Amino acid sequence: MPFYYINKNWTLNPGFHHEVHTEEHAAELKIQDKIYLGWFANEIDAVQEGKKYYSNADGCAVCCPKAHKG
Ligand SMILES: [Zn+2]
Repeated sequence: MPFYYINKNWTLNPGFHHEVHTEEHAAELKIQDKIYLGWFANEIDAVQEGKKYYSNADGCAVCCPKAHKG
């Protein structure tokens, strides 16, 4: 089960959402400004947690496809 982060910077994706990433993908994208969400069984649970911080939280299309809405 991966660790998940939410990006504080919403300007870096086409939908202008606060995107949730796995730890691995956040590191690959060199995202510095992020909030640690925790350890989840899947991205759907992680995005649910992310919504506590940002109501427009969305899963990254690459690392969280099951939670990606656009
Ligand atoms: Zn990602």
